[in-house]
Amino acid sequence: MKAVVIGAGLGGLLSAARLAKAGYEVKVFERLPITGGRFTNLEYEGFQLSSGAFHMLPHGPGGPLAQLLSELGAEVKIVRSEPQTMVRVPLEKGDRDYTKGFRDLPFNDFPSRLSRKDRMKIAYLLVSTRKNKPTESSLRDWIKAQLKDEDDWLVKLADSFCGWSLSLRSEETSVEETFEIIENLYRYGGPGIPVGGCKGVTEALETVIAAKGGKIRTKSEVSEILVENGKAVGVLVDGCKEKADLVISDLGHLATAGLCGGGTEDPEMEGWEAYLEQARAQEPSAGIKICLAAEEPLVGHSGVLLTPYAKRINGINEVTHVDPTLAPAGKHLTMSHQHVSPERVKFLEEEIELGLADLKDIFPGKKYGVLFIQSYHDDWPVNRAASGTDVGNETPVSGLYVVGDGAKGKGGIEVEGIALGVAGTMKKILG
Ligand SMILES: Cc1cc2nc3c(=O)[nH]c(=O)nc-3n(C[C@H](O)[C@H](O)[C@H](O)COP(=O)(O)OP(=O)(O)OC[C@H]3O[C@@H](n4cnc5c(N)ncnc54)[C@H](O)[C@@H]3O)c2cc1C
Repeated sequence: MKAVVIGAGLGGLLSAARLAKAGYEVKVFERLPITGGRFTNLEYEGFQLSSGAFHMLPHGPGGPLAQLLSELGAEVKIVRSEPQTMVRVPLEKGDRDYTKGFRDLPFNDFPSRLSRKDRMKIAYLLVSTRKNKPTESSLRDWIKAQLKDEDDWLVKLADSFCGWSLSLRSEETSVEETFEIIENLYRYGGPGIPVGGCKGVTEALETVIAAKGGKIRTKSEVSEILVENGKAVGVLVDGCKEKADLVISDLGHLATAGLCGGGTEDPEMEGWEAYLEQARAQEPSAGIKICLAAEEPLVGHSGVLLTPYAKRINGINEVTHVDPTLAPAGKHLTMSHQHVSPERVKFLEEEIELGLADLKDIFPGKKYGVLFIQSYHDDWPVNRAASGTDVGNETPVSGLYVVGDGAKGKGGIEVEGIALGVAGTMKKILG
């Protein structure tokens, strides 16, 4: 059996490794000269920056990605962050920014900043919602409806958590998806850092693919998915037909649909129009990453620092506490993330200035240099489908599946969602 994988991002590489291990003859086609997509390292001035991710796995060594890597025999050391998540809060409860001083609060202590009544309510809600998950509303509206939250503390915290982990605001995140995420945090634990950064993961997968005889071709853009009688039969790459029994696309549903050839008009192929409509409804999420170089630690630990009182920055990490080789000797690599809402994508320079101003307030008096600023939107986004809007991995074309961050599993944050989606797809294909 032959399988073609379109795109050598994390979703494509995980799928290719799994299929190669199951005995498929696998070919991966990648349009760029590099592999890994938004999950690889970019060397810059001795630092290992990244093409996308923050060198961090949302559920660390206990999560779905770590589990899938281990099943595939991909050797990656993943170190749990310690502490997992801290939240920078102003010293005085009524203050609205960091200018008069701040302290870092462990994430689990967040109820301590609520009124007594809200503390009791949230404790009850966190237990009761495990059985009866709320639906039908955004996280922000749900908080507003359930709690008094006088200082807007919980909404700010929700915005910074959603901004950091999903690149969304709490009003763009469904409360149902939030509770799936909380459930996964109980189940798998908090974040961790792969040694070697993103490339430590994607390179290990490439080793597995090569060991099983799979081939990865870079600078090879797929221009069409060949469909006959409602079935995928291969792809057109660099003008040549590549026949296959199975086609896996790592491009998200909309781009995948756009590549499907004339066979989709086949009267036997049901549901194509409805599928297109669902694919068009998926909105990518946008964001800005600012990479800092510092001689002294800025964050001071390997976990996430959420910054709910900043104007734009949602959170920051400092991965060199786990893997010092991600920076030149004696230096730290610190990366901040800020969500960009769809209406602000055309004002990226203003958004960057606001992010840089935030960093001065978050790290007053600290010495650091701005290494690199990257923005992500449209067809190179933070997430191809906003969390909670994924439509699954199947398509109306038989033998054609979509993986990656346009087709994540439920409650799966970023690469954990990709791993859940790939594992589910492979189960359908391989049984
Ligand atoms: C700023 C930022 C920070 C993030 N931080 C984290 C984090 O800390 N932790 C985390 O878990 N996730 C994080 N993410 C998300 C994570 O990086 C992505 O979810 C993941 O890398 C997406 O992988 P993918 O395989 O779905 O897609 P991609 O990486 O986009 O792979 C798709 C590949 O397909 C190729 N391609 C496209 N069209 C064609 C074609 N026609 N023919 C051949 N090849 C084609 C592309 O070039 C690309 O290489 C972050 C993302 C960003 C942008």
